[in-house]
Amino acid sequence: MACEVVELPNGSRAIVCGPRQPRQKCRCGKTATLLCDWKVPDAVTRSGTCDKPLCPACTHVPAHGKDLCPDHAAVWKARRG
Ligand SMILES: [Zn+2]
Ligand SMILES: [Zn+2]
Repeated sequence: MACEVVELPNGSRAIVCGPRQPRQKCRCGKTATLLCDWKVPDAVTRSGTCDKPLCPACTHVPAHGKDLCPDHAAVWKARRG
């Protein structure tokens, strides 16, 4: 089991442990620690959400505990007006 220290956007740190943590990269090239939570009607993912890998620098947080990829953050903002 591998553990690693993850830096959160608010400056605090969290230790993430997991034997099956996928090593995904954000589109900026950093290691992704977050996934887009945007609900996709015909999602191919099991979770039913976009699940695009995101690093803390690239995520958008519309609500506590939610993360959006830049594409879906734009959609969310457009809907909010
Ligand atoms: Zn990034
Ligand atoms: Zn997304």
